[in-house]
Amino acid sequence: MVTVNEAKEKIIANTPLLPTEKRNTEASAGYVLAEDILSPMPLPSFRQSSMDGYAIIHSDVTGKGISLKIADEAKAGLTTVQTLTAGTAIRIFTGAPVPEGATAVIMQENTVVENGQVVINEYPVAEGKNVRNIGQQVKKGAIALAKDTFLTPGSVGFLLGMNVPEVEVYRKPRIGLLVTGDELLKQDEPLSHGKIYESNSAMLVSALGQEGILRVEVKYAKDDLESTMAALQDLAEKNDVVLATGGVSVGDYDFVGKALSGIQAETVFYKVRQKPGKPLLFAKTSKTLFFALPGNPASSLVCYYEYVLPAIRKLSGRSEFFLRALKMPVTVDYSFDGERDEFLKAYANQASVTPLTGQESFALRSFAVANAIIYLPVKQQNVRKGDLVEVHLLPF
Ligand code: AMP
Ligand code: MG
Repeated sequence: MVTVNEAKEKIIANTPLLPTEKRNTEASAGYVLAEDILSPMPLPSFRQSSMDGYAIIHSDVTGKGISLKIADEAKAGLTTVQTLTAGTAIRIFTGAPVPEGATAVIMQENTVVENGQVVINEYPVAEGKNVRNIGQQVKKGAIALAKDTFLTPGSVGFLLGMNVPEVEVYRKPRIGLLVTGDELLKQDEPLSHGKIYESNSAMLVSALGQEGILRVEVKYAKDDLESTMAALQDLAEKNDVVLATGGVSVGDYDFVGKALSGIQAETVFYKVRQKPGKPLLFAKTSKTLFFALPGNPASSLVCYYEYVLPAIRKLSGRSEFFLRALKMPVTVDYSFDGERDEFLKAYANQASVTPLTGQESFALRSFAVANAIIYLPVKQQNVRKGDLVEVHLLPF
């Protein structure tokens, strides 16, 4: 049996970084950059107006109410190069190229147009006002995004604005999932006494989906050693990470631990001093990590968030592995006995966190509306309303 912190340390220490791959930039959100991206062009690549208004020479405005002749128009997309003559203005729109010679753009709201002349109701006018300069955002050849940046929708927009069509990123893990339990029914089967609907696989597949892992190979094994070993072996050959749910406790029909030994996986730890999720088992071979999650749904999901997710993030090149943690005041008193740290399904708002009713490991009703997990180590066995507790925010 290891402690929660030991379990986390052992997982991170045994989790490698996956190789890199090229991806289309438009499908790169959620991946981590494996290279510096140098800007292939300055951004902006030409001087742009940041306002609808009038391009002028700022020094032509020598006082309030100066009037300039409107010589031409520049709309967004104009490809010819215009030149502004002293004493005149060019009507211009946001994103249009600023004419040669122009040193400022006066926003339309500060002007009045009369008989082909524009009256400028702004003085003094600063040089460069409302003009986006070439390379103001990024210079050509500069590091636009550094290696190890986690790519977001903002990154995708930024990179495509520089016409970077593909990026080198860390690959995400291929994941296999083994479901065990002779009591389990598929969703289209009729309910009969003694059986339950199998729900852990879709729950875990959904959680993986939120991490950008959209294909998971799911297999089902009977509660016997041969079938469990064969399924684990097959999943291990094709995947970087194999998850199993159920069959990892001490019951006579729990075969996952034995099956992992049977396929020569080395156990890194078995059992964590925690509630729920005590029977968690972490094992590895030279190319695959194995997480045997307890079958009780709430245990399975807590173990996924606290242990599997960090490994997936490390494999994929992320530098923040764990759920985002913060200290928040708890809204109620809460006590527990025993020697195991507790993870509580909880709901956090901006200011405080509330443990939800129904913390048993078979009960998912609380998880169904939770947005956070409260982590209470044994030394915080008796918290009072208002005490600060460690909150792990679920990733949505
Ligand atoms: P086990 O870890 O196999 O002893 O299972 C513990 C509890 O979780 C039992 O009540 C099982 O019926 C339940 N369980 C196991 N696997 C699943 C599953 N895939 N979906 C829903 N419940 C499950
Ligand atoms: Mg079972």
